[in-house]
Amino acid sequence: MGCARPIDGKAAAAALRERVAEASREFSRKALRKPGLHVVLVGDDPASAVYVGAKEKALHKAGMEGAVHRLPADTSEADLLGLVGKLNADPAVDGILVQLPLPAHLDEAKVLDTIDPAKDVDGFHVVNAGKLAVGKEALVPCTPAGCIRLLKEERGDLSGLHAVVIGRSNIVGKPMAQLLLAENATVTIAHSRTRNLPEIARTADILVAAVGRPEMVKGDWVKEGATVIDVGINRLPPPEEGAKGKLVGDVAYGEAAEKAAAITPVPGGVGPMTIAMLLANTLTAAHAREGLEPPKL
Ligand code: NAD
Repeated sequence: MGCARPIDGKAAAAALRERVAEASREFSRKALRKPGLHVVLVGDDPASAVYVGAKEKALHKAGMEGAVHRLPADTSEADLLGLVGKLNADPAVDGILVQLPLPAHLDEAKVLDTIDPAKDVDGFHVVNAGKLAVGKEALVPCTPAGCIRLLKEERGDLSGLHAVVIGRSNIVGKPMAQLLLAENATVTIAHSRTRNLPEIARTADILVAAVGRPEMVKGDWVKEGATVIDVGINRLPPPEEGAKGKLVGDVAYGEAAEKAAAITPVPGGVGPMTIAMLLANTLTAAHAREGLEPPKL
């Protein structure tokens, strides 16, 4: 095992959740209602069910109100859009999250763009993506927003640092690059068609891996002293029948830790920050909808 400092996302998330719970109580005193977060789950994808369950528990713990709307896998687009419309119109609802992936017969982009951008706590609506791109106040996707918090706690000012983001999804890679740009980092976005990826990765002061390929980033891809943020969550095949496969990131942790100054472990790094940021976004949306100054979290 190398000498990199593990970045404790679990502790950072717990601290943020405590601040959110306090600010949520304060909001309830002022607005005479709790912040409201509603989650929509279509079908029975087991991973999604686990994520949604965790979100449901977290929202109540944070002093928020809300529910999970569990719909059957064969729900029609009209019915799903109808529920989103109802939540859009409900004044007690501040945040709406439709859990992805949706069953194949449903048009994800259409569903996401039906959500009121002011309630889009996942930050996936084109209006929020556009605002982020032009540097306006926006609801920002939770995972990259969590990564930026961890990075700023670790490195302080990111100005002028070279950040390499591997992955260009709308959920992680692209918004991550935008957030790094907003912090004045020099940003390179790499993806599946990038040539000489190890060479490019080696130039990074900040290396963010959001690919979905177990332990793809090797130790010799990492510059000495770099900060490594591993977004990947991959389950390896189980060693024997009936057992559970190990959870690993997109970075070969042991090797990368030999070179990096700091690195997020999997699990316990980026993952816990995602739900904490979802709660923070809900609180931000609730304040904006009530015309209140958002709390500093
Ligand atoms: P995605 O599949 O939408 O995007 C993957 C990206 O990786 C693509 O842009 C693709 O171009 C790039 N890529 C694929 N193969 C590559 C290769 N060989 N070399 C370089 N780039 C390559 O995935 P996503 O939704 O962005 O998620 C990425 C990972 O992050 C997944 O493991 C996912 O489970 C994880 N994730 C974690 C959290 C969290 O809360 N920690 C949240 C979202 C996603």
